[in-house]
Amino acid sequence: MSLLVVGSVAFDALETPHGKVDRTLGGAASYFALAASHFTPVRVVAVVGDDFTDEYRAIFKGRPIDLSGLERAAGKSFFWSGRYNANMSERTTLVTELNVFANFKPILPPDYLNSSSIFLANIDPSLQLSVLKQVRRKPKIVGLDTMNYWIERAPKELRETLKHTDILMINDEETRQLTGEHNLLRAAQRVFKMGPKTLVIKKGEHGALMIHDKFLFSVPAFPLEEVFDPTGAGDSFAGGFMGYLASTGSLSEHNLRRAMVYGSVLGSYAVERFGVERITKLKRKEINSRARHFLNLTSFKLQ
Ligand code: AMP
Repeated sequence: MSLLVVGSVAFDALETPHGKVDRTLGGAASYFALAASHFTPVRVVAVVGDDFTDEYRAIFKGRPIDLSGLERAAGKSFFWSGRYNANMSERTTLVTELNVFANFKPILPPDYLNSSSIFLANIDPSLQLSVLKQVRRKPKIVGLDTMNYWIERAPKELRETLKHTDILMINDEETRQLTGEHNLLRAAQRVFKMGPKTLVIKKGEHGALMIHDKFLFSVPAFPLEEVFDPTGAGDSFAGGFMGYLASTGSLSEHNLRRAMVYGSVLGSYAVERFGVERITKLKRKEINSRARHFLNLTSFKLQ
């Protein structure tokens, strides 16, 4: 099964209570692709500048990640900088420089056109839609992430893209903002009317909730003694989730439930080190072992 992601490939400057890095590989599509590639081959659609040297390209090497859709443009790559508070529950964005992303018009290489699963990471909804329009056949699975910036500034374009989306993956605040409804179950009913039949609400250290029009499923965040850097947890969650689903090719209830666990597994590994370091070194054995921990963590018998 072929999984395509469109989103940012960036340089990040990060500051957490555990330390500081001035420039590390980041971007939603980077975290997503590295996480999803543990389950299925991934095709990346993004743009980078001429500061994206072979040293950074090498981070994706040795994994089933196709970078032929990673355009190189003159100028600087997307740059983002963020600082976390002492208990890492809040993050302040210090800098967002779109750079080469400002004029990006994604063009899919010919061998991407048959992609059957697509993840539209958090970027301008009109770019997300333009990717969907280029694929040859209607994909089996379309997932989408967005944020307050696009909900406020491009509501019409976002609504249009949502019509073609199966799974919306956003956080609780974004859910409330998008629907104008505080209660998440009622908010999901509004989301269903917009297009997606599955809503995955990411709640950071409180795990994630899946609201499907036929069932509910909740998964905790894996309890960790030390979180190093929460950056990319959501994108790694999405990568584990979509990567697993794409590898099965079906949106059955069992698959969706397992995808929630694999999402949580990848999200929990991502935060153990700065940037993408941990998920690039991750072994399938470690993924399976943590998935089993989730089983123990959540199973109980009634009487
Ligand atoms: P997350 O922690 O899952 O929200 O993702 C953080 C990653 O998203 C960082 O690596 C950033 O480079 C990237 N990022 C931050 N802001 C934006 C934005 N406005 N558009 C696209 N990517 C972004």
